[in-house]
Amino acid sequence: MGTPNPDIELIDKKGLRSDGRKPDQIRPLKIEAGVLHRADGSAYLEWGNNKVLCGVYGPREYNPRRFQQSDKAVVRCKYNMAAFSTSDRKRPGPDRRSQEIGKVIADAFENVILTERYPRGVIDINMEILQADAGTRCAALTAAAVALADAGIPMKGMVSACAAGKVNGVVCVDLDGPEDNFGEADLPIGINHTTGEIVLLQMDGHLSDKEYEEALDMAVAGNKEVLKSQREALMKRFNASLDAQENGGA
Ligand code: ADP
Repeated sequence: MGTPNPDIELIDKKGLRSDGRKPDQIRPLKIEAGVLHRADGSAYLEWGNNKVLCGVYGPREYNPRRFQQSDKAVVRCKYNMAAFSTSDRKRPGPDRRSQEIGKVIADAFENVILTERYPRGVIDINMEILQADAGTRCAALTAAAVALADAGIPMKGMVSACAAGKVNGVVCVDLDGPEDNFGEADLPIGINHTTGEIVLLQMDGHLSDKEYEEALDMAVAGNKEVLKSQREALMKRFNASLDAQENGGA
């Protein structure tokens, strides 16, 4: 969130946003499952100008053994932004922001994956941000959920994430780069669609109680749209593997 910039019209006179969206419209979203053959599960996602690749490995035995948990698997999440993913070259490697995002996404999945089925195991979720334009933690979590389903890892329900926020005083869903830079608030929300639980909630900026309620409702509605794209990607993936099996392939 930054200081409002009077030179940039984020909401026009018709109430439309700078990319032509209505306040309650998410950016175009496209997901493909099963894109990496060496990973146990994978997904590629394009959401507005965000591009994210996710590979899941496991469950497998956690080594060295001192890190094992005797009653469940550990979920490890690595969120990484490529050096070329932002307009200024991003310094490669881990930083505080990527560690924080990896941690909140791991916490979200710890509550969703049936980790007790894999004692002493580890599940690795690697999320690579190839192009970033705000909302990358939501995009990464959404791609990771599809990659986990592609890996056949049992979960309590399908999970997605979508943010809402405030731009020029208007509550809007799924902020893009300029809106995130010059808007007043951003509220990323992750949801388990089966249980209705919120698995991720963060907030940057300021919202009144009323705006917060409105933003939460918008983020929940946005998440339902995201779930549709996740379902489509998984249906396509599983239909393709069934076709391949029928034709004698893998
Ligand atoms: P999110 O991507 O989940 O919205 P932030 O609010 O921290 O997370 O970041 C918003 C956007 O700011 C990112 O999507 C990215 O476009 C940009 N950004 C974040 N970190 C950097 C960085 N180190 N260098 C350049 N741009 C960055």
